[in-house]
Amino acid sequence: MKTLTTHYIDGAFVESHGREVMDIINPTNRKVIAQVTLADEDDARRAIAAAKQAFVTFGRTTKEERAEILRRLHEVVSARAENLTNVMVEEYGGAARFCRLIIEAGATVFLAAEKALHELPLTRSWGKTTVTFEPVGVAGLITPWNANSFFLCAKLASALAAGCTAVIKPSELSALQTQAWLECVHEAKLPKGLCNVVTGRGDVVGAELVRNPDVAKISFTGSVGVGKSIMRDGAATMKRVTLELGGKSPNVILDDADLKKAIPNALAIAFMNSGQACVAGTRLLVPKSRLDEVMAVIVNAIPEFPVGDPADPKTAIGPMVSEKQYERVQSYVRKGIDEGADVLVGGEGHPKGLEAGYFVKPTVFVNVKNDMTIAGPVLSVIAYEDEEDAIRIANDTDFGLHAYVSGTDIKRARRVASKLLAGRVAINGMLDDQQAPFGGFKHSGVGREFGTFGIEAFLEPRAILEAA
Ligand code: NAD
Repeated sequence: MKTLTTHYIDGAFVESHGREVMDIINPTNRKVIAQVTLADEDDARRAIAAAKQAFVTFGRTTKEERAEILRRLHEVVSARAENLTNVMVEEYGGAARFCRLIIEAGATVFLAAEKALHELPLTRSWGKTTVTFEPVGVAGLITPWNANSFFLCAKLASALAAGCTAVIKPSELSALQTQAWLECVHEAKLPKGLCNVVTGRGDVVGAELVRNPDVAKISFTGSVGVGKSIMRDGAATMKRVTLELGGKSPNVILDDADLKKAIPNALAIAFMNSGQACVAGTRLLVPKSRLDEVMAVIVNAIPEFPVGDPADPKTAIGPMVSEKQYERVQSYVRKGIDEGADVLVGGEGHPKGLEAGYFVKPTVFVNVKNDMTIAGPVLSVIAYEDEEDAIRIANDTDFGLHAYVSGTDIKRARRVASKLLAGRVAINGMLDDQQAPFGGFKHSGVGREFGTFGIEAFLEPRAILEAA
């Protein structure tokens, strides 16, 4: 059993001031695999002080100096991709084939930020006016458990590209993954205080970052409720905020779609990251005229998504991260049934033979109303009348993080995409572009990450106007 008692402050692993010890449980078999000592407010304040001190110098660095640091981080994370994947599988329970992709995406995000930094003008001038884009200061980066290493890389990359120093508060459920990631960061030999990491509870360490006047900006990924509280509490110190929150993303299957491609794609998009992805396409909007066909293709395609040991390369869906998350999904499945939806595949309880871990059955509901509260690796099939009806249902939600459209007539698919209220819309697949903005309309968040958009979120323009 591993024991973690340190945090990463001012370029060194230092003993925790916090005293609370938490068990880390392997979600595949419920065994305690580690004990971690959680940070307290005092640890958070030490980390903030280190970042504040480092900002004095780092805030004035050139693009090339920052680019060199981003390249170093890319190298050290790439070099340990195998180890980071294994730890993610063990602690989080993510399917190995998904975890590998997410770790690799975390490594490449540093290079993507470097490219964006070179493309982003940090000075603009006209006449006697000059505008420079200044780093906002110390950035508090607060991340969830569902792709720990990726979020740490992505937020740190944008913050450093902008010239900010960082205090990261990862999810306490990801302590081992964070430790493995920190071993990479330590190898990169960054200037002291650039990247500080304090793993502790959200309402302790996270809250300290949000209220501390020496933190200029919070970039948060997590739940809607916590996001709102950060915006509210951050107002006292006028925090700049980027909030990446939840979604209830629609996947619109147009009536000319090739169902043999579009439906397995839709299942992959819904069950990605064991259904624990904020971008999961959980509402499948299908034309009423093709509903029976869709249901038949779903039933046929489900065996392509085996649930099981996440370390097995054949596994598509691992366990839920924690007992709490397992219970949450179960309660949603029950609620779906109570609200009158029909189970096409899956349902309540553990899949057979997988009672030892937090495994759930990938579930597809039909006869779902758009306002039902279903979530998890659970897909809801909703029938629509025509294109206009599909767009109406897709947009009839408080969220707007992601949307998907499938169809063979690309012009029509584009037309539908242009009417969907979501930060990203992917046509004919699960697509990513690390230069494209990522973030939500409506309750899915505030601001954007990635590419030049992500760096801008850590900058403040200053205009200097001279007399003629
Ligand atoms: P969460 O909101 O409970 O926690 C996220 C982080 O915030 C954790 O580090 C947590 O400790 C911290 N936190 C909790 N309370 C806090 C407080 N009062 N002040 C400051 N920090 C606090 O979310 P979670 O359960 O860890 O993650 C799952 C959620 O994240 C889901 O709702 C999912 O939709 C969302 N998510 C969104 C995106 C996105 O990019 N939009 C990506 C992944 C996950």
